[in-house]
Amino acid sequence: MQKERVIVIGSGPAGLTAAMYTARAQLNPLVIAGTQIGGQIALTHEVENYPGFWSEEKTPTGPELVEVMQKQAEHFGARFEYDEVVEVDFSKGAPFYIKTYGNEYEADGVVVTAGASPRHLGVPGEQEYVGRGVSYCGTCDGFFFRGKDVVVVGGGDSAMEEGIFLTKFANKVEVVHRRDELRAGTSLQNRAFANEKISFVWDTVVEEIQGNGVVQGVQTRNVKTGETKPLKTDGVFIFIGHFPNSKFLVGQLAMDEEGYVITDERYRTSVPGVYAAGEIQDSHFRQIATSVGQGTGAAMELEKWLAAQE
Ligand code: NAP
Repeated sequence: MQKERVIVIGSGPAGLTAAMYTARAQLNPLVIAGTQIGGQIALTHEVENYPGFWSEEKTPTGPELVEVMQKQAEHFGARFEYDEVVEVDFSKGAPFYIKTYGNEYEADGVVVTAGASPRHLGVPGEQEYVGRGVSYCGTCDGFFFRGKDVVVVGGGDSAMEEGIFLTKFANKVEVVHRRDELRAGTSLQNRAFANEKISFVWDTVVEEIQGNGVVQGVQTRNVKTGETKPLKTDGVFIFIGHFPNSKFLVGQLAMDEEGYVITDERYRTSVPGVYAAGEIQDSHFRQIATSVGQGTGAAMELEKWLAAQE
């Protein structure tokens, strides 16, 4: 059993910030980073809305921001383990038990920042064609659709941002959205409407993804008229929201009905000494800047709580 003062679970903006703050507070944090450092921003192409790094000459990429944040946390003493948490036991209070694939730990304090993952459509063909035309990440897979036609499902900021990014590669991007207006913010909407490669299929859902080894098309249904129609496409990019990565916390921390960890205004969970920050507890803002702020708050509160235990 490896004993630690502070364990940060997750390495997105909230986790990297909590690591930096607890490291600067001499708490020698260990970050259990998962297999992909940086969480969702590591898969984001351009980040225009995180202050401090943008300039007219250069918009930072997600991986660039992650690299700087990790270096900063490491500089002040944070350590990183590229492993995933499979089980925790917080029921007896501190020290808290944490099990990963490769090790077992006990920590005096914990910050949970395990984030969220893309939601799936749950239609026939989706699972079958993941990696063969179905994708949840334009930044990762856009390159494979050079000169091809793709469908984007969803009407939020992610769908617009990724749809615009995909026009760098694809011939044509058809956005299939279940309503007749977008959820995305005005600036992204305007950029999408102005993009000649993007067209919209309104009031429509994808009912099946079809192909022959690779994606060849989708079956759509207009939710107002009931009309069904096949749509030829080489790829289906799905951006319909996220779910929290909180399975390993079931029965350990109080959660809402969607599985988001419940925290108070000081990022305290239902277990004293365990804090949560970022998208694991925030289904509303979901911005890098808000996650960074939440990671800061959680780390500061944990530091105070640990001091009070002595
Ligand atoms: P979102 O805002 O929840 O949007 C999800 C979209 O998918 C909505 O248009 C929704 O339709 C649609 N949808 C949901 N379930 C569906 C289903 N089963 N079938 C078909 N369509 C479905 O998610 P998001 O776009 O991932 O954004 C999440 C958060 O991150 C937001 O707060 C967003 O502002 C933020 N974000 C910001 C930026 C940025 O500022 N640059 C970039 C990315 C994300 P309805 O509209 O009908 O509900």
